Amino acid sequence: MAKTAIVTGGSSGIGRAVAIELLRRGVDVTIADIAGAESTARELGCSGARVDVTDAAAVEDLVGGLKADRGRLDFMFNNAGIAVAGRTDELTLDHWNRMLDVNLRGVVHGVQAAYPIMVEQGFGYIVNTASLAGLIPVPLMLPYTTTKYAVVGLSLALRVEAAAHGVKVSAICPGFVDTPLLDHTNPGLPQTEIGRLARTIGVRVQKRLYPADAVARDVIRGLERGQALIVVPSFARRAWSLVRLSPALSVHATRQATRRALP
Ligand code: NAD
Repeated sequence: MAKTAIVTGGSSGIGRAVAIELLRRGVDVTIADIAGAESTARELGCSGARVDVTDAAAVEDLVGGLKADRGRLDFMFNNAGIAVAGRTDELTLDHWNRMLDVNLRGVVHGVQAAYPIMVEQGFGYIVNTASLAGLIPVPLMLPYTTTKYAVVGLSLALRVEAAAHGVKVSAICPGFVDTPLLDHTNPGLPQTEIGRLARTIGVRVQKRLYPADAVARDVIRGLERGQALIVVPSFARRAWSLVRLSPALSVHATRQATRRALP
C-alpha cells in the first residue's frame, strides 16, 4: 500500500514543489488548497481538495476522510500560508487576526486532525512550514514573524512528545523563496508600502531568491535525515547561527540589513 500525504497550500510555490517530489517517490499525494487544488491535482496526477485551513472542521474531514479511504496517513504537510507585511504602526487588528488564523490556526488545525490518527497508527510525519522569520527577529512583518516563531515552538515541542508514539515532526525554515507569496502580500487586507516591496526587499536582503523546487529537494533530504529544523538556503543558516551566537549582534545585523533593503 502506497504511503499517503496531505500537502496544504499544495497548489503553488513550496507546497506544489514538495507534492511533485513526493509523487516522484511514489507517495499517494492529496493537495489541499483554498484555490486551484483540483486543477493542480489534475495537472500533477494526484488527488486534490478545496480546503480552507482556517476551517477546523473542513481540515478534520479531509484528514479523517483520507485515513478512512486509504487506511493510513503517512505525512501531513501543514504548509498553507500567506504573508502580511508593513510597519507595525500602520497594521490593523485585521492584519494580525488574518495572519493568526491562516499561518498559526491553520497549522494547529492540521496537527489536531492528523496527530491523534498518527498516534493511533504508531507512525506518521508532521511537517510544518515555518520560516527563517521563525528563527530570527524580522521587522516590518511582525504578525508573520509571530506566527512563524509559534510554528517553530509548536513543532519542536510536539516533536519531543510525539517521539514516544513513533510519530516524527519537523519544521521547514526557508529564507526568501521565489514564489507568488512575495507578490501577493496582505491578501484581502489594506496593502502597505512594505507589502508592495516584499519581493524587492527579499532580493536586496538575500541577493538571490531560493527556488521552490530546491526547497522541496532540501525538505525531502531533511526528512530522510529526521532533522528537527530544515533551514535553507545557506544564507538562512548563517543568519540563524548569528542569532544563536549573539542575539544582540543579530538584532544589530538585522537593523543594518533592513536599512540597506529599504528604498
Ligand atoms: P504561495 O503563495 O506560492 O503558496 C501558498 C499556498 O497556500 C497558495 O496555493 C494559497 O492558495 C494557499 N493558501 C493560502 N491561504 C490558504 C488557506 N486559508 N487555506 C488553504 N490554502 C491556503 O507561497 P509559498 O511561498 O509557497 O508559501 C508556502 C509556505 O511557505 C507558507 O507557509 C509561507 O509562509 C512559507 N514561506 C514562504 C517563504 C517565501 O519567501 N516564499 C519563505 C519562508 C516560508
